[in-house]
Amino acid sequence: MTLHPELERRFRTRISPFVRRQIESLDADAATALLSQFEPDERELLEVPDFNDDPLHEDDVDIHPFPDVVHKYRSKILYLTTDECPVYCRYCTRKRKTLLSEGHAHSSPAEIAAYIAARPEIQEIIFSGGDPLMLTPTDLADRARVFLSLPNIRFLRFHTRAFTTAPGLVSEKLLGVLSALQAQFTGKFFAFVLHVNTAAEVSAEAAAKIQAVRRLGIPLYAQTVLLREINDTAAKLAALCTALIAAGVQPYYLHQLDHVTGSAHFEVTETEAKAIYAELRLRVPPYMLPRFVRDSKQGKYPV
Ligand code: SF4
Repeated sequence: MTLHPELERRFRTRISPFVRRQIESLDADAATALLSQFEPDERELLEVPDFNDDPLHEDDVDIHPFPDVVHKYRSKILYLTTDECPVYCRYCTRKRKTLLSEGHAHSSPAEIAAYIAARPEIQEIIFSGGDPLMLTPTDLADRARVFLSLPNIRFLRFHTRAFTTAPGLVSEKLLGVLSALQAQFTGKFFAFVLHVNTAAEVSAEAAAKIQAVRRLGIPLYAQTVLLREINDTAAKLAALCTALIAAGVQPYYLHQLDHVTGSAHFEVTETEAKAIYAELRLRVPPYMLPRFVRDSKQGKYPV
């Protein structure tokens, strides 16, 4: 494929070897739905009003105490552990850190821990990124210990796409690290939130890693982005919710697209989206139904 040079210059592209192999085994529709989440598209170069590099205003100084921390909710902070991911989703909300990244400043866990220690209302830290599973298990454990040692941190959550796009990263070493953290920090709680958009992404390999984490007693939730021509029907979303539940993952959020630069062609209009969600309600039981939300600087609100 020949790409527009400006497209190649502007946005990083990465598709993991696992996803490339998986695509060979999928039918044409499922393969296209998966690949188009990561493949460059010249429509990304269109300038569209209201689409920008930081649609959630995460870099605003009032919620951005460190280059790699977003603190917009009173009781939790988002820690952007790395700019790296096994894949780069073209519509990534944090495109400025991932696809547009030229390397960002990172603070030390000790600095961030001092900030948290001075704010006892913070109970949870979310390891996000990029993808925190791109850290080595040792690095991830070292950082986790710094935060879990704080009396006010009771919950550690990981936001990741690695289970479905690079399941090898959910390694025996990582599982051992999680188990050791559980043993060291009894009374603290761990959770994973997986980014999954289509049923085909819940592969046998992903399901095996999900089961391995479930055996540790760690719950897994899923968040999905509603994307045009990828998962924009109630039937596709119902298939996804069913696959997640069967694998042991609770559907949690369905997100309306954030207005990040170069992603307008993925957007499903709010009118269409509401109709799709209304039909989804009729297709799956309530315990399989994710909450449909739009994100903002102030937090999530129902669509
Ligand atoms: S895996 Fe997550 S952080 Fe990485 S590019 Fe995709 S949406 Fe962004």
